[in-house]
Amino acid sequence: MVKLEIFEHKLQLRDRWTIARGTSDFKHYNYVRLECDGITGYGEAAHNARYGESLETTRAFLEQARALVERCDPREYHHLIASLHALAPDHGAAKAALDMAILDLAGKMSGLPLYRVLGLSSQQTPITSYSIGIDNREAIQKKIEAAADFPILKIKLGSDHDREIIAAVRAVTDRTLRVDANEGWHDMQHAIEMIRWLADQNVEFVEQPMPAGNLPDVAWLREHSPLPLIADEEVKTSADVASLAQAYDGINLKIMKAGGVLEVLHMITMARTHGLKIMLGCMIESSLGITAAAHLTPLVDWADLDGNLLIANDPFAGVTVSQGRLILPEAPGLGAAAITDIP
Ligand code: MG
Repeated sequence: MVKLEIFEHKLQLRDRWTIARGTSDFKHYNYVRLECDGITGYGEAAHNARYGESLETTRAFLEQARALVERCDPREYHHLIASLHALAPDHGAAKAALDMAILDLAGKMSGLPLYRVLGLSSQQTPITSYSIGIDNREAIQKKIEAAADFPILKIKLGSDHDREIIAAVRAVTDRTLRVDANEGWHDMQHAIEMIRWLADQNVEFVEQPMPAGNLPDVAWLREHSPLPLIADEEVKTSADVASLAQAYDGINLKIMKAGGVLEVLHMITMARTHGLKIMLGCMIESSLGITAAAHLTPLVDWADLDGNLLIANDPFAGVTVSQGRLILPEAPGLGAAAITDIP
C-alpha cells in the first residue's frame, strides 16, 4: 500500500521575477510525499495560471487521484500514469507531481537513479541556459555578472523596452543568447523586425515570439525569419506536437505542462518523428522538479533548467551545475533530498 501526503510550500524568489505576462516575488505550490514499505518518494506541482491552474485546482486533482495512487503498485508505473491521465484532462502540474513521486519511489526500490532506469548516460547532459527576467539596465547587468558560470543566457523579452534590454546585455557580455518573448509580440511586422535585429546580436533562437493559437502567422514568421523559432506556450502535451511542425523549428517541453516524465518521453519521440528540435524547460521550481527533468536531458538538444537557481529557500538539493553543465545526482530515484523543514 502507498500512503499519499499532500503539503504546501512557499518558494521565495531571490529577485523579483518579471516576464511579458507579469511579475512575481514568490511561488506557492503543492507537494506530494508517497510512502511505501518505509521508502519515501517526493513530487512537486509547479502549477501555472497560464494553463488555468491554481493551488486549489491542483490540490483538488491530487485529492481526486488519492484512491488511485494509494492502491497502486509503484513498480507498475505505466499503468498508474495511464489511469491518472484518464481521470481528467489538463492538471499537468498535479499529474507531474504524482508521476515524479512514483518514479522517485520506484527508483529507490530498485536502487537506481532515474537516468539509469531510463537507460541514459549522465555524461551526455547538455549545458543549461540561465534566464534573465525583464528589468532595468542596471539590474540586468548585475544579474549577468552574478551568472558568470553560465556560458548561455536566456533573455526574457516582450516588454516595451526590448532593444534597450539587449543593448544592456551586449554592453557587458558576448556570451550566446537565447531570447524568449513569452507571447509578447502581438504584431507580425513587429515580430519579424525584432527577430531580424536579434539575428545581428548573436542570438541563437527565439522562443514563443507571438501569442499561442495562431499557427498561420507563425508559419509566415518562420518563412521570413533568419533565426529558428521554438514553441513553448503553444505546446503542452503530445496532442499538440504534430501540428507545430508546420510553423516552428523546435519545441520547449516541460514536465509540468505535459503532466509528467512519461508524457515528456512520448513528446520527445513525436518531436523527433516530425523533425523538431527539443528544449527541456521548466517553471520556477525547486530542485525537486528541476532534478526530475534533468534526468531526461541526455535525450534533448537544449536544456533550460534554471528555475531552482532563482529561489532563495529551495527545500531540496539534487542536480547541480558546473560551468553550465548539468551534473546528475547518483542517488537512487530522483536523487533530490529534502534539506529543510518541509512538513
Ligand atoms: Mg518560454
